[in-house]
Amino acid sequence: MGRWRAAWLVLALTSLITAGAGGGIAAASERQVDDMDKDISAAVYVVNRYWSSHWSRFFTGRYSSPGVFGGYQRGVRKPPLCGPDRLTYDNAWYCWNDDYLAWDVDLMREGYRSGDAWVYLVIAHEWGHAVQRRLNRSLVMRTYELQADCLAGAALYGAAADGILRFEKGDVAEIEVAHRRMGDTTPWTDVSDHGTAAQRMSSFKRGAKYGVRGCLPD
Ligand SMILES: [Zn+2]
Repeated sequence: MGRWRAAWLVLALTSLITAGAGGGIAAASERQVDDMDKDISAAVYVVNRYWSSHWSRFFTGRYSSPGVFGGYQRGVRKPPLCGPDRLTYDNAWYCWNDDYLAWDVDLMREGYRSGDAWVYLVIAHEWGHAVQRRLNRSLVMRTYELQADCLAGAALYGAAADGILRFEKGDVAEIEVAHRRMGDTTPWTDVSDHGTAAQRMSSFKRGAKYGVRGCLPD
């Protein structure tokens, strides 16, 4: 399975641990949970860093990071309020009202089983909505969800170009798998809102190839 690794110290350590872990006696489920938390932290770090360091190349005004509530889980931690309403389980969110990201840990875990690219995609996508909130209305497209997918591609591939994220063998395949999941079976993906899996993948690829400018109206 391919892995995405961010080139910063904590993750470098994680990689070493992971590399030495094949067939070890530690409980696999515990290790996976542990890895997922590190991948989530890495995704938050990498995506935020991409936007903060490139903002002024594309947009006016100052970039400010959205809040990150993080994970909630049935029986463990309730979903937070977003405006007057509580967020729901089995979903990942950008709360437009209060400017923060949050996700159901079980949703993350399920996607993570087929590859760590999942958490990077989810976080980069939700972050894309935070970016949209910071833009002039004229730059926010009617295909709101597909634009967020495009911005996710721009941020992740941009971070790779910056050298803070490294793609390894298998990652592109994982991205395809993750988009298929998002387009088809995952509860928070509604085809009429988000587009089909193929449309989502093609938006993501546009951002990956053309960067942020490729995600803005002509
Ligand atoms: Zn979305």
